[in-house]
Amino acid sequence: MTEIIRALRPTRRVPHNSAMIRARLPLVCSAPCSAMCFALCAWSGATVAAGPAVTPMVAIDVGHSLDVPGATSARGRVEFEFNRDLAHAIERALKAEGVATLVIGADGKENGLGARPAKARGAGFFLSVHHDSVQPHFLQSWVHEGKELRYSDRYAGFSVFVSRRNASLPGSLRCASGLGEELRRAGFRPSLYHADPVPGEMKPFADRANGVHYYDNLAVLKGATSPAVLLEAGVIVNRHEELALGEGETHERMAAAVAAGLTRCLASSRPGRH
Ligand SMILES: [Zn+2]
Repeated sequence: MTEIIRALRPTRRVPHNSAMIRARLPLVCSAPCSAMCFALCAWSGATVAAGPAVTPMVAIDVGHSLDVPGATSARGRVEFEFNRDLAHAIERALKAEGVATLVIGADGKENGLGARPAKARGAGFFLSVHHDSVQPHFLQSWVHEGKELRYSDRYAGFSVFVSRRNASLPGSLRCASGLGEELRRAGFRPSLYHADPVPGEMKPFADRANGVHYYDNLAVLKGATSPAVLLEAGVIVNRHEELALGEGETHERMAAAVAAGLTRCLASSRPGRH
């Protein structure tokens, strides 16, 4: 395998260019090509002609479904809708970078967790998009537009999770840190509270500065065959953060940061390093 990878490595590297990548894709893994071939080509940046490394296809998993919609925001909007909006923004941002994408669960009909990684086979990276809540004992009541709802302004910010049971942990960690770093650079802040020593949290830091935690039993992460990361984009039970997370401008800024972090880490990935 090492010889194969070495033989496939490009002899010349040129700067990242979306149009060149698109033009080169048919040369990299010409049909018929198995998923293994695609993954090998994608992760090695292999080419039959010299050129830039290919960024592998990114599977974007829309967390939750219409039937099981996840958390409820301070104003009563379900998490699935936040996840879907941000996932579509991330899809647009990655496509603008010339990265192929596969969106899973956008129709709200994907109820099984196990089916999501299976649908992502052939992708070189798995990103699950979620929005956060807090432990139930931190929630308080308030009345919004005549309805009594639950909120907590105690925490805000994003979190990134990786599973040590994922088959490609080093690649997952590298991209999780890159993603968190780009989010910070774009002005977002990590929430950090998932490491707190309270029941239901205690998710140890993998990279505190960039808001990355280990969460080993997350089904979509441990079931993914590629490097995989779950992003909690922000805390929707926080009354202030919910408003920002519902804005298109926030989606675009966050999506651009996610795309920048992923394209950078995936372009630099090699089989021997993950
Ligand atoms: Zn969720």
